[in-house]
Amino acid sequence: MKTSSKLTWGPDMLLNVQDVDTYYGRAQALREVSFRIHEKEMLAILGANGSGKTTLLNTISGLLKPKAGTVEFEGKRIDTLSPDAIVRLGISQCPEGRRLFPEMAVLKNLSLGGYVRRKDRLGIEETMEEVFDLFPVLKERQHQLAGTLSGGEQQMLAIGRALMSYPKLLMLDEPSLGLAPLLVSRIFRAIQDINQRGTAICLVEQNASMALKVAQRGYVMESGEIVLSGSSEQLQDEEKVKQVYLGL
Ligand code: ATP
Repeated sequence: MKTSSKLTWGPDMLLNVQDVDTYYGRAQALREVSFRIHEKEMLAILGANGSGKTTLLNTISGLLKPKAGTVEFEGKRIDTLSPDAIVRLGISQCPEGRRLFPEMAVLKNLSLGGYVRRKDRLGIEETMEEVFDLFPVLKERQHQLAGTLSGGEQQMLAIGRALMSYPKLLMLDEPSLGLAPLLVSRIFRAIQDINQRGTAICLVEQNASMALKVAQRGYVMESGEIVLSGSSEQLQDEEKVKQVYLGL
């Protein structure tokens, strides 16, 4: 089940990451990483701390530049583009730790997420209504400072802000981190809802059991490499996944 190194371009392929190496100075953090995401698909990326998951998302969103390999989105190479240009093409990232502006109101945080927009965009107000429809509590608290929200509400705001650029691909980095179980379920339901509305999702999660329940396919990373790939059902049956990630 190890991922094949050459991937063919299919009609519904949205993102194609091919043989990517990314470094921090002289330290290599990604090694020949290849994977793909199809339109409207939900994909889980699993792996222990330090396995390279965040580095992979940052390489796709243009915050880090790969030293080798290519990243293509809808058939166009994006690994040389700026992060702004990549957002405009339709990739949005919700970072680990949320990175909100705590001294600004909920509304301001959301409108900042909409400052870079795709050409085929809905209006900012229309998109904000969609975000409020998904997370009604954000509408109720739209004038409250982001820093005064609960952890779960802050996570909803971080996801809502990422949606404001009206992405085709939403990348979520550890959205359940530090949340109580009830809120984790609430966040995962919202992620499924976003996906069912047509947005492809790349979900980086330590909570492997939840991630494999909602995703259609998954990849497992170790030491900067993809070591396993398959459908969520296949991964749930893998001995290694059971022992290391599902605690069975
Ligand atoms: P976590 O779940 O802890 O965030 P991760 O799977 O997302 O882990 P990365 O954060 O991508 O892993 O880290 C991959 C490797 O790169 C690790 O060895 C880490 O120490 C290293 N690394 C990450 N960020 C930096 C940085 N800014 N400078 C140098 N090395 C880094």
